Amino acid sequence: MFGFDAYFYKNRVLIEGAGQYKTNEILTAFLEYDLPDLRELLESCKSYERKLHYPETFDEVARFDGLVQRATTFFSSLDEMIDQLPPYRDMKRKHNSLFELMNEHRYFFDNEPGIDHYENYPRPEYNDHFYTDLTFSDLDPDMCDGALQLNQKLRELVEQYRIFVEDCIRVKEVYAVFLEKLHQDKEYLNAKETAEVYRTFTSGLKERIRTYDKFEPSGTMSEVFVPQTIDDELVLCEKYRFSTLGGVLYIDLFKGLNNHFLPRRCGLCGRYFLLEATAYSLFCTRSTTDRKEKTYRDLGHRKTYADKVNSDPILLVYTKAYKQHYARYLKTKMSQNEFREWANYALELRQRAYDRELSFEEFAEEIRK
Ligand SMILES: [Zn+2]
Repeated sequence: MFGFDAYFYKNRVLIEGAGQYKTNEILTAFLEYDLPDLRELLESCKSYERKLHYPETFDEVARFDGLVQRATTFFSSLDEMIDQLPPYRDMKRKHNSLFELMNEHRYFFDNEPGIDHYENYPRPEYNDHFYTDLTFSDLDPDMCDGALQLNQKLRELVEQYRIFVEDCIRVKEVYAVFLEKLHQDKEYLNAKETAEVYRTFTSGLKERIRTYDKFEPSGTMSEVFVPQTIDDELVLCEKYRFSTLGGVLYIDLFKGLNNHFLPRRCGLCGRYFLLEATAYSLFCTRSTTDRKEKTYRDLGHRKTYADKVNSDPILLVYTKAYKQHYARYLKTKMSQNEFREWANYALELRQRAYDRELSFEEFAEEIRK
């Protein structure tokens, strides 16, 4: 239900039935999405995993239809959330899986309680309700087999939702924290530095028991290489078959560590954006709310430069001198060539001041000329 084939090529992943994404674009969307209380969702999934089976006691018989109705509503709301997230939002995922599964086995159940379905009351084509009077031990052997099959399918169905929720928890509680560590130096790390951050981070998770608390994929995956036409070009792609979302997120994350496609939290608006191997930035390119044409990256870079200038006397003197000379050039008191020459000289002076070849006073005096 949540599985798919995916092809990896360069900095992209192509997901069968959903289209192309940049490396780590899917993870960025999950990091950014305002997920509901995941622990609560997980508890609900586990509870349905325990309770959803053919009723065994009279008590369970009495409550069974109510249980199925609540579960149907719960999994529909999960489906609605999943439909907003890639890659599933771009697929035509089937909804109502629980309802359809129950209807495959509707010979066990009555749509209305207490009605025997004889000629005058033919069975409806689909059941909306699932009432029964019989406990598991009341069933004859053939029916027992059917009930066991139903139980197994119910367990598998709920398990897939549970693993999806666990995959979401891992995004928030493992991957997000790892990414913070990775971006601590505010620059791209090389392979060795990345490996060191990874090793330190994962050694801190050793005590954890649950897979969704660990840096691990979920489900199963298999890999083959296949020729595939991408952008009108035939290339050899890595093709994976993933049984879960957690598998693709894991592989994609490591691809991104290699090719510098990495989600990061914006230093100004706090939302996630994807660094795409271009110049490292602390800020996203979303428009700021008050001025549409300005992005957080514009604002952030200006702020970073201003902070830097104010804490760096050499840069402060240089910037002031530069502005003065630039004004002279604008007022045509300096020719373009003269200004260019001066600008080169000023950069040289600045470097010599940083290298302590010039004292700060010498530098300040020379650059104002
Ligand atoms: Zn931002």
